[in-house]
Amino acid sequence: MPDLLVRNGRILAGATSEELIAADIRILDGVIAEVGLDLAPDGAQELDVAGHIVIPGLVNAHLHSPGNLMRGTLDGLPLEVFMLYEVPQAEGGEEDPARVRLRTLLGAAEMLKLGITSVADDAFFVPLASTAAIDAICGAYAEIGMRATVGLDQPIVVEYEKYPFLADLLPPALKARMDALPRETAEGMLVHYDHLIRHWHGAAEGRIAAAVSCSAPQRATPDYLAALSELSKKHDLPFFCHILETKLQRVLGDEKYGRSLVRYADDLGILNERMQVIHAIWVDEEDIAILGRAGVTVAHNPVCNMRLGSGVMPFRALRSAGVPLCLGTDEAVSDDSHNLWGAIKAAGTVHALAEPDFEHWPKAEEILAAVWEGGNRVLRRPVPLGRIAPGHAGDLAILNADAPAYRPLHDVRRQLVLCESGSSVRHTVVGGRVVVRDGALQTIDEAAMLAELRALEPRLRAEAAELRQSAASVEPYYREMVRLAAARDVGFTRWVGR
Ligand SMILES: [Zn+2]
Repeated sequence: MPDLLVRNGRILAGATSEELIAADIRILDGVIAEVGLDLAPDGAQELDVAGHIVIPGLVNAHLHSPGNLMRGTLDGLPLEVFMLYEVPQAEGGEEDPARVRLRTLLGAAEMLKLGITSVADDAFFVPLASTAAIDAICGAYAEIGMRATVGLDQPIVVEYEKYPFLADLLPPALKARMDALPRETAEGMLVHYDHLIRHWHGAAEGRIAAAVSCSAPQRATPDYLAALSELSKKHDLPFFCHILETKLQRVLGDEKYGRSLVRYADDLGILNERMQVIHAIWVDEEDIAILGRAGVTVAHNPVCNMRLGSGVMPFRALRSAGVPLCLGTDEAVSDDSHNLWGAIKAAGTVHALAEPDFEHWPKAEEILAAVWEGGNRVLRRPVPLGRIAPGHAGDLAILNADAPAYRPLHDVRRQLVLCESGSSVRHTVVGGRVVVRDGALQTIDEAAMLAELRALEPRLRAEAAELRQSAASVEPYYREMVRLAAARDVGFTRWVGR
């Protein structure tokens, strides 16, 4: 790894720093070695940033890269109807590794150009996981120079078992068709995890790492959840788990488990400091207390939550219970970008709609702490992320201090949260390597990537049309299921204005 000296920056060291400090940054072997004035080059490659703003690289703590080719295909829909299109009930075999590589590169390229240096990719497979697809995802992140932690978000239960009411609503022929579709088993997934961990955990100079993922408790079995939790413990891996994203999932907990999904997961013993609980919107007070005691980190995806009408996560109640947050974009067809800056601004503003007590609204420092400290906590890397200080990963975003977001500059943290769109990012550094210079990717041929995408587009549009056709036969039953769940009184609401 080349050593790098970033010269003449104005540095915001982290979320708790108030002021920009003029300094140089020396990165040795991918790790920040020294921060100070007028550091000697000592043979290192130099990047003169001429008074621009240097911040720790952003951590996108929740993403599903398999959705990267779906941007623009759907209007707003509730999650359960949306998922008919996002993870279609498909026949067929393994995914094409070339396409998997392309879609992963597309998302990573977008993120790196926005100063996002790390991602937690909760990758699903339609319909089945494969070694080739896992290699294509991890290989793409390795190739483009991004830091990525990859989990295998693969349900193993039959479709209608994941939902309330659906088994009764569906005609027998449609249920039989769902029964017959290919799906992964716990044993099969554990073989895939063995490959992921053996071949990719710690690969590419430590940039690539493994996580475990159950997708959601209702999409797995208790035995599989226990096996994943054990794997997480054995290798100290993050455990990704969507919990109580929608009101329907609250109703599902009551219907299927006789308790909330948080309590169900807690009773199974899988909630701990390695667990990333994704969304946590329809949590009640007892759930929030459990999450606080368990030490989980909650992933907040505010743009996705608005887009799918899921509701507003109880930001202040979670924080007051001591629950650390991290921030994610979730998906290219539910955010609809990889632009964490949009999620940052949404997190900094949406809670004012749901919280009449303005003293409880989030402050800019809290949102940046979610991005950097929460992101670091959730990824569990041996070299910590999210701070410009010796011993931390050499991951930086360098922003044009003359950009509109900083005209005039009053409070850098507030302006990062409320004014920055990502358009000010000039250079991005991951592990001491300049991966974006003056807005241009240095690691892959972006024009070739785009040419590959344009050639694929007619096929993608045809597939989207086919998908609309095939989903039409089951969609009315899903819509009815969502209506039934929405009408249920669960004792509280996370919808604004109800
Ligand atoms: Zn998700």
